[in-house]
Amino acid sequence: MALEEYKEKRDFGKTPEPKPEGKKTGKQRFVIQEHNASHLHYDFRLELPEKMDSGDIVLKSWAIPKNLPDKSGIKRLAIQTEDHPVDYIDFSGIIPSGYGAGTVKIWDKGTFKLTGSEEKSLKFILHGEKLSGEYHLFWLHKKEREENQWMIVRTSK
Ligand code: MN
Repeated sequence: MALEEYKEKRDFGKTPEPKPEGKKTGKQRFVIQEHNASHLHYDFRLELPEKMDSGDIVLKSWAIPKNLPDKSGIKRLAIQTEDHPVDYIDFSGIIPSGYGAGTVKIWDKGTFKLTGSEEKSLKFILHGEKLSGEYHLFWLHKKEREENQWMIVRTSK
């Protein structure tokens, strides 16, 4: 039920955000959406199957308060959020009062190539308009209450 949480949080009579819809094929695109909500953050989304290697294609999503690093060796916190429908990749606009209220702008977009994929650890090369380079995104397996906390580090110059 990859998109159940996405659906539950939103009132599609009010928000201009896309309705969820399952898709079977992906193009390995990514997007970084600058989301000026109660706290400014950057939503990083990768077009991937719901599970590691099966299921509908969704946008695996992380909220990164300080955006992705643009220099090697810098680590940033990335909080995993609910899977989003693929159509969200083109979304920009104003979300009215309710979940995620605020302004969404596309900060960067492009394609990526997975270079390593394990449970809760993804390595990939981004080919964006602003950001290009290799990254490692991995889960911080500390405490249960931090189950959504990941880190992203840039591994290329
Ligand atoms: Mn957001």
